[in-house]
Amino acid sequence: KTLDVQVVFSQNNSSFHLIVIAYDISEVINITQMQVDFLRNASHELKTPVTAISGFAKTLLDGAKDDPEVLTEFLEIINRQSDQLTSLINDILTISHIQKDEVKLTDSVVLRDFVNQEIETQSNQIKQHRLQVHNLIDEHIEVNIDAESLQRIVRNLISNAVKYNRDDGEIMINASIQGNFWYFSVQDTGIGIAKSDLSRIFERFYRSDESRNKQQISGTGLGLSIVNELVQSLSGKITVDSQRGVGSTFTVRLPRK
Ligand code: ADP
Repeated sequence: KTLDVQVVFSQNNSSFHLIVIAYDISEVINITQMQVDFLRNASHELKTPVTAISGFAKTLLDGAKDDPEVLTEFLEIINRQSDQLTSLINDILTISHIQKDEVKLTDSVVLRDFVNQEIETQSNQIKQHRLQVHNLIDEHIEVNIDAESLQRIVRNLISNAVKYNRDDGEIMINASIQGNFWYFSVQDTGIGIAKSDLSRIFERFYRSDESRNKQQISGTGLGLSIVNELVQSLSGKITVDSQRGVGSTFTVRLPRK
């Protein structure tokens, strides 16, 4: 433990008092350290696209723009890196919102319809990979939850199931009510997650080497950490079951209000 100690002396004619007050500041130091780490990681991640954008823009201005093929290629890189920058900023803003512990509203949500809307939002990427998405949620399941939080959770899990799937793969989305809890799961037929990565995927900015190195899989490494933090703030729990080359299932358990 780290203690902050204050010593107070007082003395009068007949007696002498010594008061020692010790504060446990371990928690404060931990939080400060976490904030420093977060800022360091965030700056590092932001620097990557900014460096690429400015590097390629300068090279174009130095004359590379005169070759139409190079021009197109570099503009595509600049465009992709700007999108990455936007995603990072949005995710970092989301994290700062979650941390503020804002009072959450409770909405009554028909889960099946809610998920269908989200599938519709991602229909372009789904079509691009020729995926089949099965929404298996019973139409009668209605849950009470802050709709904005639920949207972030559902959106991130489905978007990962799309990104890390194989072409012509499948996504199964399901939900159930058991006792005082309701469960929501997203299963994919994708690349799966290595055992060594499983314990780390919920960390902020963590991406497996595979997803970092594949240019066509964009991401910030913040999605699952946001989902995890939101689920925890709603007194829930997220678990993952995965097999390399077979697929992954993410399951969220939340209390019924
Ligand atoms: P990212 O922006 O990289 O997708 P996430 O926080 O959403 O960040 O996920 C962290 C990492 O977990 C990903 O980089 C990927 O390696 C792994 N991952 C997440 N979801 C899946 C999935 N459905 N299948 C395989 N790997 C996944």
